[in-house]
Amino acid sequence: MLYLCGFHEIFFVIKLNDGGCFLEKILTFLVLRFKNMIFDTHAHYDDEQFDIDREELLAAMKDGGIGNIVDVGASMASSERALELAHKYDFIYAAVGVHPSEVEEMDDSSIERLRELSKDEKCVAIGEIGLDYHWPDPSPELQKIWFKRQIQLARETGLPIIIHSRDAAQDTLEIMKSEHVEDIGGVVHCFSYSAEVAAECVKMGFYIGIGGVLTFKNARKMVEVAEKTPIEKIILETDCPYLAPEPYRGKRNNSLYLPNVVRKMAEVKNMSEEDVIRITEENARKMYGISR
Ligand SMILES: [Zn+2]
Repeated sequence: MLYLCGFHEIFFVIKLNDGGCFLEKILTFLVLRFKNMIFDTHAHYDDEQFDIDREELLAAMKDGGIGNIVDVGASMASSERALELAHKYDFIYAAVGVHPSEVEEMDDSSIERLRELSKDEKCVAIGEIGLDYHWPDPSPELQKIWFKRQIQLARETGLPIIIHSRDAAQDTLEIMKSEHVEDIGGVVHCFSYSAEVAAECVKMGFYIGIGGVLTFKNARKMVEVAEKTPIEKIILETDCPYLAPEPYRGKRNNSLYLPNVVRKMAEVKNMSEEDVIRITEENARKMYGISR
C-alpha cells in the first residue's frame, strides 16, 4: 500500500508491507487528519441524477482528493434527503432550506420543520435561500417574504446562510443590509455578479462561492471577481449535478472535477494549487464551524 501525503511543501512516501493493517489504519487517519483536501461547500448529491451511481461516486471522493462536502437542500424534501446523506457518510454535512424557485410550497409549518431539522448535529447552514428573478414565478414579493423568514430562522438557530441570487443583485443586497446579515454570516454561492457586488458582500463578512463557471472560456467577469476578491474570502463549490467545469462543461458535474477549478484559481491568483486548497478549506471550515 502506498501513501502519498502532502504536509504543505513536504511529501512523505510510506510503503507498508501487507502485514501492516493496524499501522495502515493509523496512517490513513493521520493523512485524512492533516492533509489538505478540497472542500466542496455546495453540492446536491440527493438529486435524482445521482440515483444510478451515488454510492460508487461518493466512495471515490477521498482518493480523488475531496475531503468534506456540504449537501444543500433546495426544497423541503431535498432538505430531508440532505440530512439523510449526512448521516450515512461521515464526511458529508447538510444545509436545510428552500430555494427561491420552490417557495410556493412554503407555509408556517415548513419553517417549523426546517427549525427542527436545523437542530441536527450534521446541519451546518440554512440554505439555499435567496432570490431568483430569472423566471417570472414565483413572484419577487413571495420570494422576498420567504428569503427574509429563512434569514430570521438562521439568526435564531445561529447557523450561517447560503444565498442563491440570480438576476436579483440589488434586491439581494437590500435584504442583506436590512436584515443585518453581517451578524449571521455565510456565502453568496455560485456568484454571478460583478467584482463590485462581491466586494459589498465581503464587506458584510460574506464568502464568495466559486465553481465551474470560473473555467468557462467566456468567464471574464468571474475571473475578475476571483482576481479582486481576497483568497481568504473565497470558497469552492460544485453546485453539482449542475455547472461542470471545463472540459466537462454540459455534462453532469461532481466533486471529482473540482481540481479543474483549483487549477484555474491558482492561475488567476498566481499561487500554488496546494495553497488554494488549504486556504479555501480553512475558509469553509470557519464558515460552517466544522473542525477537522
Ligand atoms: Zn445549489
